[in-house]
Amino acid sequence: MKKFYTLLLYLYAVVLSAQVDQSYYLSETHDYNPDIPTPQSILGYEVGAWHVSHDRLVQYMTALAAASDRISIENRGYTFERRPLLLLTITSPKNHQRLDEIKTQHRRLTEPGSETLDLSKMPAVLYQGFSIHGNEPSGSNAGLLAAYHLAASNDPETLALLDEVVVLFDPSFNPDGLQRFSYWANTNRSMNLNPDNNDREYSEVWPGGRTNHYWFDLNRDWLPTQLPESQARIKTYIDWMPNVLTDHHEMGTNSSFFFQPGIPDRVNPLTPDMNQKLTQEIGKYHAAAFDKLGSLYYSEEDYDDFFYGKGSTYPDINGSIGILFEQASSRGHLQNSDNGVLTFPFTIRNQLTAAFSTLKAVKSLRVSLLEYMKSFYQIAASEAAKSKQKTLVFGNPKDPGSAYEMARVMKRHGIELHQINKAANINGVFYPETSSYVVPLNQKKNKLIEAMFAIQTRFKDSLFYDISAWSFPHAFNQNYSYLNDSKSMGAAIAQLEKPKGSVSAKASYAYLFEGHSYYTPKALHALLDKGIRVKVSMLPFVREGIRYDYGTYMVPIQNQALDVDALHKLMQTVAEENALSVLGVDGGATEGIDLGSRNFRPVNLPKIALLVGDGVRSYDAGEIWHLMDTRYEIPITKIDVRDLGQTDLSDYTHFILPATYGRGLNAYADKLKNFAQNGGTIIGYRSALSWLNQNKLIELKFKTTERIATNIRFDQRSLYRGAEEIGGAIFNTKIDRSHPINFGIHGANLPVFKNTDLFLEPQPNSYDNPILYTNNPLINGYISKENLEVLKNTSFFQSNRLGRGKVIVFTDNTNFRAFWYGTNRLLANAIFHANLF
Ligand SMILES: [Zn+2]
Repeated sequence: MKKFYTLLLYLYAVVLSAQVDQSYYLSETHDYNPDIPTPQSILGYEVGAWHVSHDRLVQYMTALAAASDRISIENRGYTFERRPLLLLTITSPKNHQRLDEIKTQHRRLTEPGSETLDLSKMPAVLYQGFSIHGNEPSGSNAGLLAAYHLAASNDPETLALLDEVVVLFDPSFNPDGLQRFSYWANTNRSMNLNPDNNDREYSEVWPGGRTNHYWFDLNRDWLPTQLPESQARIKTYIDWMPNVLTDHHEMGTNSSFFFQPGIPDRVNPLTPDMNQKLTQEIGKYHAAAFDKLGSLYYSEEDYDDFFYGKGSTYPDINGSIGILFEQASSRGHLQNSDNGVLTFPFTIRNQLTAAFSTLKAVKSLRVSLLEYMKSFYQIAASEAAKSKQKTLVFGNPKDPGSAYEMARVMKRHGIELHQINKAANINGVFYPETSSYVVPLNQKKNKLIEAMFAIQTRFKDSLFYDISAWSFPHAFNQNYSYLNDSKSMGAAIAQLEKPKGSVSAKASYAYLFEGHSYYTPKALHALLDKGIRVKVSMLPFVREGIRYDYGTYMVPIQNQALDVDALHKLMQTVAEENALSVLGVDGGATEGIDLGSRNFRPVNLPKIALLVGDGVRSYDAGEIWHLMDTRYEIPITKIDVRDLGQTDLSDYTHFILPATYGRGLNAYADKLKNFAQNGGTIIGYRSALSWLNQNKLIELKFKTTERIATNIRFDQRSLYRGAEEIGGAIFNTKIDRSHPINFGIHGANLPVFKNTDLFLEPQPNSYDNPILYTNNPLINGYISKENLEVLKNTSFFQSNRLGRGKVIVFTDNTNFRAFWYGTNRLLANAIFHANLF
């Protein structure tokens, strides 16, 4: 009985501790303006009692901004699910009146002439952002209280702060993910909160709320900027150039609270030491606040500042300080942990504490932060002026599309770009006018340019929190050259224009176009979808003096669903939209294969299924969905593992298996085998290869590395194992351009991204190995010596016949994070040309 009462008391205490009022977060005696609405007055519950949905968050922020003359609110765009990307600018009413002036003056820190600025009179700029991972919600929930405090506090310290700091307040970095997660946590919440870790509340269904609509990790997109959320915030970023940017996350439930600096050895070498010193200085304010609160915390043992695609690292190459916070997650409302019962309000209060200690630090260190930004750009400018290298040219000799897409990324970051003044041969590489760009290196963003192009293959540390390489010319498959002069530099580009294609003439016989434009798969689908017959050449040929490559497309006039005029019109639209140079011809003879040759093979309209659901890596599946849906405009049917049993696959031509753990898939091995035997094409990626191999859908031989640790102590074991991982690096392959998997790709080599330890043995016949790692494959990033040895001359791709169909595999991801434009075509070719393999 006594035991029972103890338990009851314990549970009572637990329930109580999760039900808090505002005094749990903010002092009751603090002077708050009663005219400013509290979160509770709008939401109908105290912060932490429920998970705020993005819709309700917008409701509160709108009400708050309407009531306060310290806040202006704007919508900077929309997520894929049409949720607004809000920004609150919070500062004193006096500063609001001259906000443009403050902004212009602040930006002068990054420009020549900054030595005349009087820093003592300039406000610092702080960007505070929350919950970029939607299922790490304590940040956004704390944001409600932080914004309230800044709007309502009449405390002299707050008033002084608002005079000296402009706060760019981004209450939800990932609206779609926050909404998805709040739905899960709230719909599974019991009225009597239950801390049992086994409760459904704490294990979200696939794909979870971490990611955005297409299941991307938004905290890897700050540099690639392929997603609308990142594009909106980078626009704010370059408009304001904040001194400090904070990024509030959550980590495992049994942890405590982390703030940067991260692991010192893993700082990107392009980041100045002073950045880390200031991060440490700011850290003292967090430590003091957490000491006062009595909350456990740590720094320097985890995470790093290496990849500039993360929110807490991107600022470090922009003269700012990026700061990562990680709070142990209660995931739902209340959960048992190694540190006792962890309540949602507790996690929110820690985030709020870090938000406040950041404000205090930025106010106190204001002049040092302004000084640091000023000197960062002064040093960068003097280095650029001294450098022998004056310009950088990049482009793709045959594809204006991918060159444009890369130029777009650079433009988004405020990098100055120029046209090439005339087509040129530079160091043996041809740069045509239509698809080349010139980057002057003596410009204020020269450090950021370096971060986009840098090659690093030697490292202080062999462990990485994320990828070790991301060089854009490789990801976009562009040629590039550094030049010691500015002779190639043409007019500055104010507004980038998407390249447009055209048709040379109305044809009476056929239309011809090469497959090099990045947008070719979209064009093919647009034609096939209208019932137009399209053929592809298996050999090169010459017509009207133009050398047509392997994989040239031909649209004959004869026997089409459209008449000559309608087809011409359609070809014009498709060419223009997809940057195709289409030749209209009035006869079939060529030097080489004539247009009626059997070496022109039919291209068929695909109907594609994509496996999703439990066990499938949602990032990889989302990248494919996004590619097909938003870039190629090719319909793709997402089939959940749990529905696979009832689905008639004979409706589909292709079935894509993204990386998968395969458990839920085991029951369907025969079904997939039948699908291929009846003529279907299965495309498998990464970990799906093992499953396909084990279930005998394809026969694969892997090379393995086996190492026995010698002289490695117990406390060194995870470092030892980590050093063997390929966290993400860039390697060179040599390609057989006559193989249809490579149609549309220029050059003899193709850089690929690799982050698996799958080393595929080549097939016996050389013509079956169209994509092989070279003998010296490392281009950029980290790989251990042992793994590099094994990787040499192995295969990236394999295709085997199975009955009347095909099984095609890639050891690595060709669609990585939406910015690997250079290898996207491989998947498109596996879709349109599998019948030719
Ligand atoms: Zn996170």
